[in-house]
Amino acid sequence: MNTLVYSIDKSENPETLYVNLTNACTNNCVFCLRTQKDDICGKEMWLEHENIALEDIIEQFKQFSTPKTVCFCGYGEPMIRFELLKAFAKYLKDNNPNIFIRVNTNGHANAIHKRNVLPELKGLVDEFSVSLNGADEEEYNSLSKPRISNAYDEVKNFIKEAVNEGFSVTATIVTGFINGIPNKEKCKEIAAELGAKFRAREFIPNGY
Ligand code: SF4
Repeated sequence: MNTLVYSIDKSENPETLYVNLTNACTNNCVFCLRTQKDDICGKEMWLEHENIALEDIIEQFKQFSTPKTVCFCGYGEPMIRFELLKAFAKYLKDNNPNIFIRVNTNGHANAIHKRNVLPELKGLVDEFSVSLNGADEEEYNSLSKPRISNAYDEVKNFIKEAVNEGFSVTATIVTGFINGIPNKEKCKEIAAELGAKFRAREFIPNGY
């Protein structure tokens, strides 16, 4: 069975639930957990198929108690399944308006969908956590190995647009996988210039 909704918390009432919408991604990050293991907390993250209906996600969501936060994350780039993400976020806000919704993203969505999709998520998504992962294009490409052109600028533009649209935005980096890359201080400055918060996470082999 596809794991579409999962928890990384052993509690029976997890505060955060995660949503796994796709295994597709426009990056191929050197540190990606997908290259190291197939599961998260024993839940198989590789989907048997990607013919996922909104009802399938809702059904799995209902197996849990109502969480404080729902995070779109998983083994792939969730914004690739933009319509599905939007539909489930709308379901959540319509039925549980107090749930905080975060999207962990590589920031390529506007390039993938060839339009600015951010206005469509107003009132549905509360926060974006965007993988900056580079103080310049060279650092970004060595860590993220993007499959789209101009990816680093796309990420920075996405962060800026999301800030301008009024979302809470955190630019993130993973440190400790390649020595000294990315340059943490420079990344912090870039996040500030773009108007975003900043978070650096040390690489952990197991991911959590
Ligand atoms: S953007 Fe995320 S899912 Fe895609 S390769 Fe990088 S870490 Fe993996």
